Amino acid sequence: MTPRLLAAAMAAALLFGAGAASAAKAPPKGLELYAIDCGKFPVPDADMFADDGAYKGVQRTLIVPCYLIRHPKGDLIWDTGIPQSKQILLDALKQLDLTPADIEFVSVSHSHFDHIGNAGLFAGSTWVVDPDEKATAFSEAARKNAGQFAAYSALEASKTRLIEGPTLDLFGDKTVVIHQTPGHTPGHTILELKLQGAGVVLLTGDLWHLAESREAKRVPRFNFNRAETLKSYEATEALAAKTKARVVREHVMEDFEALPKFPAALK
Ligand SMILES: [Zn+2]
Repeated sequence: MTPRLLAAAMAAALLFGAGAASAAKAPPKGLELYAIDCGKFPVPDADMFADDGAYKGVQRTLIVPCYLIRHPKGDLIWDTGIPQSKQILLDALKQLDLTPADIEFVSVSHSHFDHIGNAGLFAGSTWVVDPDEKATAFSEAARKNAGQFAAYSALEASKTRLIEGPTLDLFGDKTVVIHQTPGHTPGHTILELKLQGAGVVLLTGDLWHLAESREAKRVPRFNFNRAETLKSYEATEALAAKTKARVVREHVMEDFEALPKFPAALK
């Protein structure tokens, strides 16, 4: 989400998750997904999350997750939370004997502040990004928003791998695939993971902010292109059906809490 008012409210209201016990890890033999609680925030009126007025007066607590995906050939951070969750993210990595310098790839579903908020920590990684989202993140308008821009501006000098086609197969083995799903922002993306035991998982960024948005196909008031968003809903539903995927709506608490509690991983 993007409105600055909400950012201020979140900064004031964040209830950070507690750190868990240490669990050092060697590089994995298969794919692993770690879900990190990078903050929770209460939304007293969710009206901004539906442009049809359906959420007027609805109260909800949203989760801001960060994800670490460990693959035998390298690690990927997917969505980096808000700047206030920097230490949580660093502590989580430390529990796995990792630092940002160990992470090969950084990618975010989109460049809103609650997804790219600590991406600057990973400026030494390869930034995997949709060209339109990169342009948005480094637009004049984005630069003027100095507080949020500072959290990821270091990526401008990072090694970059552009998501040129509709999909990008990160490791070339179809286990970690980024899909273009534009609409919420110009270059919004989702992540498909093929786990050995758990099957296919889709991390769907901000396609749907509230649980019921998916079935009702609701589009938030702050949205780049409504028609593209609806097309991305269709494409994602088709992908989910084809792969029998577990769909994770990233801000939805029950989806987050159904994942293994960090430092446990889904495998
Ligand atoms: Zn968001």
